[in-house]
Amino acid sequence: MPVYHHILLAVDFSPQDNQIIQRARNLSLQSGARLSLIHVLDNIPMPDTPYGTIIPPDTKTDDAMLEAEKQKLNQTGDTLGIDPACRWLIWGEPGEEIIRVAGQENVDLIVVGSHGRHGLALLLGSTANSVLHHTKCDVLAVRLRDD
Ligand code: AMP
Repeated sequence: MPVYHHILLAVDFSPQDNQIIQRARNLSLQSGARLSLIHVLDNIPMPDTPYGTIIPPDTKTDDAMLEAEKQKLNQTGDTLGIDPACRWLIWGEPGEEIIRVAGQENVDLIVVGSHGRHGLALLLGSTANSVLHHTKCDVLAVRLRDD
């Protein structure tokens, strides 16, 4: 198995996230890789915010929905012991932003679920598909069980 140096874990906060989180955690422990975390905001309204805008997860806003998303990201980040500087919360299209951050941060493995909120009925969801087709690094699509 290749040794990875920087793993990017993409979470959509669906009930199956735990399975991906455990896999990414084990892989980073086994290979000694740095672990980064990303959630792309695509399900809350962000008027006047251009796609690709980075939302600092450690700053306060008046927007309750945004605060809830930050909290979820920070909870997962805390559980995994991820440095706050390696927690990415970005407004945009999930596939595009995951690929962009992976390139920018020299990630050599992206971990996604086989299907999440966008691909409930699919073997491979739209985000997983887009990441697999368009990124230059390795991608692990964790086969999610719905039970
Ligand atoms: P999908 O292809 O959208 O059904 O989701 C498959 C996987 O892509 C999920 O299990 C996550 O790992 C990742 N993913 C989907 N949407 C997002 C998002 N908004 N932010 C970060 N990762 C996501």
